[in-house]
Amino acid sequence: MLSRLLAITVAFGLSLPSTLLAAEKEVVVYSARNEHLIKPIFDNYTEKTGVKIKYITGEAGALLERVQAEGANTPADMLLTVDAGNLWQAVQTGVLQPVESETLNANVPANLRDPENLWFGLSVRARTIVYNTQSSALEKLSTYEALAEEAWKGKLVLRTSKKVYNQSLVAALIAEHGMEKAEEIVRGWVANLAVDPFSNDTKAIEAVAAGIGEATVVNTYYFGKLIQEKPELPVAIFWPNQETGGVHQNVSGAGIIANAKNKEEAVKLLEWLASEEAQGQFAALNMEYPVNPKVASDPVVAAWGTFKGSQLNVAKYGELQAEAIKLMDRAGYK
Ligand code: FE
Repeated sequence: MLSRLLAITVAFGLSLPSTLLAAEKEVVVYSARNEHLIKPIFDNYTEKTGVKIKYITGEAGALLERVQAEGANTPADMLLTVDAGNLWQAVQTGVLQPVESETLNANVPANLRDPENLWFGLSVRARTIVYNTQSSALEKLSTYEALAEEAWKGKLVLRTSKKVYNQSLVAALIAEHGMEKAEEIVRGWVANLAVDPFSNDTKAIEAVAAGIGEATVVNTYYFGKLIQEKPELPVAIFWPNQETGGVHQNVSGAGIIANAKNKEEAVKLLEWLASEEAQGQFAALNMEYPVNPKVASDPVVAAWGTFKGSQLNVAKYGELQAEAIKLMDRAGYK
């Protein structure tokens, strides 16, 4: 239909009505964030601007492979993914292009975006300690590093080292302490395990709730989801490292595809996602924290208390990812 209209207008030297042009604007997003976390926001944007958003969702690694395989023919304009480690991987494969935007630079703190502007954090995920409130954990809790001490023998629960979240956590330890000290800490964690590492954060929290161990390290939104379903569980959040480097932070974030067909519209969408208008909803849908410092956290999230977050640039997690994986392997962290 459109091509026919175009043919007619070209033939008669007319211009297309602007409403028709506006209706054709679209952005294609490949998203590692699940549909229920993005659809309400994209719907709002379309309603506001008339710009259509097409998206596919999938696992972070699979989406990246797909963009690479599609090369110049990719329909994707934006890659939306989770964890700075994955965003760093995307940079390494060359599928992203830099974006110079004062709006983005103003709305996304420098430590939560790529130093070369290849991606921008859109929500903060705090990886913190969750402990059993019926145990003596709280008396012992202080830092991630202290979980390696003798007092935690047989009381620590961890998720597998295969998950990028823990690779980023260990990368942060390397950045802060150097390789040798970081390895000593991770060896201490492994020596203190109550049980073999779990496949996901939720199982780790459930083990702590069941008294299998006294504390674990997880992203707060998993705590939030579990406690909404089972408010009776004897678990609570602890904010570690408040006298030192701060709570480990990661991001979900997005970048513009190097071969984007709709770059201009994709950048506008990215800017909007980081704006005061969209940030509250973007973060709240997954019980995360806004990156935009002008935006308040959702009340459910705010109820967990305030904390000092790490100021380390999250891009470091990618740079040190390979070293972190090797370190965890040496330390016997499965
Ligand atoms: Fe997650």
